[in-house]
Amino acid sequence: MSDMRNELFYEQKNGYDRLPLSERVKLEDYCRCYMEFLNDSRTEREAVKNAVAEAKKRGFVEFRRGMDIKPGMKVFMNNRGKALMLAVIGRKFLSEGAVIAGAHIDSPRLDLKQLPVMENEEICYFKTHYYGGIKKYQWVTIPLELHGTVALKNGRTVDVCIGRKREEPKFVITDLLPHLAADQMKKTMAEGITGEGLNIVIGSVPYDDEGKDRVKLAILSILNDMYGINEEDFLSAELCAVPAFDVCEIGLDRSLIGGYGHDDRVCAYAELKALFDVKDPEKTCVCILADKEETGSDGVSGMQSSAFDDFMEDLCAAQRVELRHCFEKSFCISADVTNAFDPNYPEVSEKRNESKINYGMGICKFTGARGKAGTSDASAEVVAKLRRIFDEKEVTWQMAELGKVDQGGGGTIAKYMANRNIDTIDAGVPVLSMHAPFETVSKFDCYMTYKGVLAVYTDR
Ligand code: MN
Ligand code: MN
Repeated sequence: MSDMRNELFYEQKNGYDRLPLSERVKLEDYCRCYMEFLNDSRTEREAVKNAVAEAKKRGFVEFRRGMDIKPGMKVFMNNRGKALMLAVIGRKFLSEGAVIAGAHIDSPRLDLKQLPVMENEEICYFKTHYYGGIKKYQWVTIPLELHGTVALKNGRTVDVCIGRKREEPKFVITDLLPHLAADQMKKTMAEGITGEGLNIVIGSVPYDDEGKDRVKLAILSILNDMYGINEEDFLSAELCAVPAFDVCEIGLDRSLIGGYGHDDRVCAYAELKALFDVKDPEKTCVCILADKEETGSDGVSGMQSSAFDDFMEDLCAAQRVELRHCFEKSFCISADVTNAFDPNYPEVSEKRNESKINYGMGICKFTGARGKAGTSDASAEVVAKLRRIFDEKEVTWQMAELGKVDQGGGGTIAKYMANRNIDTIDAGVPVLSMHAPFETVSKFDCYMTYKGVLAVYTDR
């Protein structure tokens, strides 16, 4: 009877029950490197910069239109410093298709408005406009740091980073004390903190003169000393506040990783590391680190931009292959995080189909909301292909679903890849408290996602 159960039932096991000891060392090594990358990559620009530096160390060169490409060659294309595409050229022509992995490197955050500096009752603030889907109440009373770039009229850009180093000051958004919060506490969690209320404290000491806005003047003078900028320069700046927490291990067993921006740098890093480990591939392997996923993948650096098509078309042109012939035979793993079942909030999930911490890379056949609206919905054949690849290469994986039916939903870059006539499926790391200033993932799942992308890249 139990043999029959073994044969007919689909039973999943905790990943640690099937992880050989030899793999544990690799898992820890991998996660240590990932934690470093995440700690230093707090914006899409920083992620691109760090990825390019790592790629160059491994022999990747900047691709230029018209360049000859040969098997084994490693190239990258930096899209305006905000998105990145890398490729290792395969032995087969691109007419046989490419193997693509696409993740995004933007994360929810608080962007500064274009005229952000405001003095109110002798406290100076930055006004913000949040980026991506956040629960606003999570962003008050936590330390924040400032990152970004100011573009000057003379064509020069100034990179700003304040608060990353231990000795540097941080910033904060204040909240009401409970003693006086009776009215606030009656509001819903969506209304308790408002978007226009997300004002970041940046200073309090007045400038020594008699005029108005003396604190603001003092703050602008500090910024001018540090970066040579004035208030008008904010008009052409991209500055944002992100959580100032260091990435760290979580749990007495150190099995989890806490940090800002796992979504989706955890998959971006997995792709990058997997591409670095690809040797002499059969088909050309492509790694995409996209921007703007959290706001709908629009814009020049988002996945709907033709920057990707142009890069691929240039590669194809070098082999006299038509792009559409390449795309129709390509395979794409849209590597994005998924929701991990949270025992504290079981009511939003349908347990049988939700991914779990420590059960491996989560394959998401479809995303979307309200009857799968807005999903590319991978075909049964595509799911079967991934099952085969993962089982052959001993990748621990599970199926995933973003919440129970009609609970909500979400999307990824998958549909924009599939719309290009590329077979595409979502798969990635399950995350606890996704989009919070401090997200949690399991080391095991991070490592399996790296193994999963590598398995796809190196499939025969
Ligand atoms: Mn994501
Ligand atoms: Mn997201």
